Amino acid sequence: MSVTITARTRVFSLLGDPVDHSLSPVIQNAAFRSADVDGVYVAYRCEEDDLAGFLRAMARAGGGGNVTLPHKERAAAVLDEPSEAVRRTGACNTFWGEEGIVRGDNTDVEGLSRALVAFLGEPPDGARVLLLGAGGAARAALVSLLDDGAEEICIHNRSTERARAVARRIGGERVRVVATKSELEGEAFDLVVNATRLGLEPDDPLPLDLEQLGTVRGVLDMVYGPEPTPFVREARERGVTATDGGEMLVQQGGASFERWWGRAAPLAAMREALEAVRGR
Ligand code: NDP
Repeated sequence: MSVTITARTRVFSLLGDPVDHSLSPVIQNAAFRSADVDGVYVAYRCEEDDLAGFLRAMARAGGGGNVTLPHKERAAAVLDEPSEAVRRTGACNTFWGEEGIVRGDNTDVEGLSRALVAFLGEPPDGARVLLLGAGGAARAALVSLLDDGAEEICIHNRSTERARAVARRIGGERVRVVATKSELEGEAFDLVVNATRLGLEPDDPLPLDLEQLGTVRGVLDMVYGPEPTPFVREARERGVTATDGGEMLVQQGGASFERWWGRAAPLAAMREALEAVRGR
């Protein structure tokens, strides 16, 4: 197992603002050690004006990394070779260099698909879904849900215009923008997905009052932390099966690992590292 850092060690980084909540360094360094690859993973708080130069220089120097909020859309625009998932979502969460070319992908799409199968036991085929948010994570969620056969996806976001732009870009007849929370009164959903950043800070309000909805069968909160998120706790108190973004983090990180190293990710080691941090 290699832990020695040499002049050949590839450096990967998370770029975002904030980054100190992120557990990506924990799971990726565990993956690198477990797979015995010569890499190290760090995190940098990065301002928007610095993103393009930082990302391109890291990739062209043989490294790569992930991009987190609020820079995923900006990152998509600075790649030489965006993947199909980046083109569809307009958002990039994974980048790396290959022979001087800066490539990028959006593994959040695959990450959510795999996490939903783990959560629901099957893809959300035929499901009626409420998607909260319209940033980079929500775009990935929308592509994932559409590809996995969701029957109807209602999108609600604080700024409705942003939700409309996402629906126009990715949507189709299965996507409906819900402008106000009051329009959701009494509506039943198979699944509610929180793709807003609410829950990241201790004083955040809940992204939605579940009381106002009709029957909800499951809640997936993309936000994660050392403890179950307030939205997950709230859902469980109401008897709704709920999970946070932990498994999605592992799955999207595993897909990123595959892009960087060209081999299967050690998912069990990544999950174990995540659970160790969470003290479970
Ligand atoms: P963005 O910055 O791109 O988008 C943030 C979203 O949150 C927007 O929809 C924004 O609404 C909404 N929002 C922010 N503040 C408020 C507020 N006060 N009230 C209501 N809505 C608000 O972030 P991302 O989409 O990249 O990430 C969103 C979350 O998903 C983050 O917590 C991130 O950690 C998590 N995530 C988790 C992953 C995982 O693997 N588990 C993967 C990807 C993301 P508006 O448009 O109106 O500003």
